[in-house]
Amino acid sequence: MTFDYAPAPESRAVVDIAPSYGLFIDGEFAPACDGKVFKTVSPSSEEVLSEVAQAHADDVDRAVKAARKAFEKWSALPGAERAKYLFRIARIIQERSRELAVLESLDNGKPIRESRDADLPLVAAHFFYYAGWADKLDHAGYGQNPRPLGVAGQVIPWNFPLLMLAWKIAPALATGNTVVLKPAETTPLSALFFADICRQAGLPKGVVNIITGDGSTGAALVAHPDINKVAFTGSTEVGKAIARTVAGTDKKLTLELGGKAANIVFDDAPIDQAVEGIVNGIFFNQGHVCCAGSRLLVQESVQDELLDALKRRMQTLRVGDPLDKNTDIGAINSAEQLARITALVDAGEAEGAERWAPACELPGSGYWFAPTLFTGVTQAHRIAREEIFGPVLSVLTFRTPAEAVEKANNTPYGLSAGIWTEKGSRMLWMASKLRAGVIWSNTFNKFDPASPFGGYKESGFGREGGRHGLEAYLNV
Ligand code: NAD
Repeated sequence: MTFDYAPAPESRAVVDIAPSYGLFIDGEFAPACDGKVFKTVSPSSEEVLSEVAQAHADDVDRAVKAARKAFEKWSALPGAERAKYLFRIARIIQERSRELAVLESLDNGKPIRESRDADLPLVAAHFFYYAGWADKLDHAGYGQNPRPLGVAGQVIPWNFPLLMLAWKIAPALATGNTVVLKPAETTPLSALFFADICRQAGLPKGVVNIITGDGSTGAALVAHPDINKVAFTGSTEVGKAIARTVAGTDKKLTLELGGKAANIVFDDAPIDQAVEGIVNGIFFNQGHVCCAGSRLLVQESVQDELLDALKRRMQTLRVGDPLDKNTDIGAINSAEQLARITALVDAGEAEGAERWAPACELPGSGYWFAPTLFTGVTQAHRIAREEIFGPVLSVLTFRTPAEAVEKANNTPYGLSAGIWTEKGSRMLWMASKLRAGVIWSNTFNKFDPASPFGGYKESGFGREGGRHGLEAYLNV
């Protein structure tokens, strides 16, 4: 399909990316001890954006030592003083949000409309929210003087690079901990820009340290004997490996892992509104969302009507340049992720599900996947059970609310779910039966820093966000 619209590209010139970046340790950027680097590539053009240091275990050790040294003074500051730094960081993020949104879209591939209107406002909101807690911890029911844990080792994925950083760093600093954070290897840049923001805010040296690298760097951080807390967001597989590393130590652990959320539509739901929620649920951020509504459970009696409306809506989705303000679906984050999506989609076809996608022209270079729908899916199919982490929706049907609950819960995951119905009693009954940490009703993918987020079952444990997010960083 060709579109009759004028491209409206955001200016790439608003962001100045250096040809190389070091590790941010003790307030300074420095190369890795062995000089190793890796390239970070824009997934929409395959252009090399920059060369970034690959931290060695000795660099991890240096970062942890810097954080340990900074901990003494940082944790002794009155909460109101820590709050001032967090407010300052939040304001600088707002001031630099256009630059950061463009950077995030270049490094990650997400549409500028999303990085500008969703990621960046939420990043600032998290710092504002936790700044507000820093001077109230003594009065929040934790008893007098709840204690920070010490040095937090934090490892984050590539799907919301700056937002995952905010979820991790803001509560840690508000509670008086210091941080060593490792961003994902395909999206290191916004964390390095955040390091610069810490300097701009005058944050004391060593309170935040950013070490770039791959899984081996993450593993070295998690295994370091002098960290007190591990916070991980990423795949369930790596989460399990981290749990094994941490087992038998005194480190506290929170894990935010994968998901396979059901978006459940009853026959009384307003169809147009549900279609918007389904589209947002699975195509937001190319489906690279842990809580994506990747399984659509639709009541049999409205299946035809809903699928017709959904297909019509999918035909209007624009796939393309992340910097174009008209783009709905940007680039897949990496060649590796594209291969994973393709393999699962091929398995869906091979197992007999019916594949449908609107005709759309995908750009020649970069990594792309058209929005895709599978009907005729059964619970036995891999596309109904495994996290695809891409713009692919599997449709299943149900007749009764009990059957919807059974199918929705029939997964090792339990991160989120959506319920579409006008009946309040049914919505409450469903919500009480669904085994998921977050349940949306008549909406999807809504986030608020005041609301705790986290999983049941193999989606992990611990909560981030809200007051519960503080507890992960305190000894009460
Ligand atoms: P991943 O687990 O491969 O990588 C995540 C991070 O862990 C990266 O920084 C990576 O370098 C690092 N890592 C890899 N191996 C490691 C090891 N052995 N020890 C320590 N660190 C290691 O996941 P990904 O592909 O980057 O992200 C996608 C996954 O993240 C999906 O499964 C998604 O559902 C999940 N996710 C969950 C949430 C949530 O809040 N529950 C949010 C976003 C993403």
